[in-house]
Amino acid sequence: MKPAVPHPKEITLTENRELRIVWIDGHVTHFSLQYFRDQCPCAGCQGESDIFGDVRMPIQLPVTKPGKYELKKLTSVGNYAVAAVWGDGHDSGIYSWEHLLYMENRQAATSNTPGDPAGN
Ligand SMILES: [Zn+2]
Repeated sequence: MKPAVPHPKEITLTENRELRIVWIDGHVTHFSLQYFRDQCPCAGCQGESDIFGDVRMPIQLPVTKPGKYELKKLTSVGNYAVAAVWGDGHDSGIYSWEHLLYMENRQAATSNTPGDPAGN
């Protein structure tokens, strides 16, 4: 048996163009749309791992397509994930609750850089 994964109670897009997720346990997560898109879990964005665990990255285009960070639609997938549709037509990203929590941890880990001068 897998332990129960917390799930979102509410997902909204704020006026700052951030995704705001209210979890069932009461904590709140914010993701910028850019971060959300960059963390797209689909094979095309993250690469597919082979049986030895090596990740094969797809070839990255050097230019950002227009609309890449424009979230068009977020639809629920069963009761375990949401699917994102982006302004550039990309729609294969399925964000499971586990992935959202993983992204949250990762974001927290990278934003708490020591010596951040944003004190005022
Ligand atoms: Zn993707």
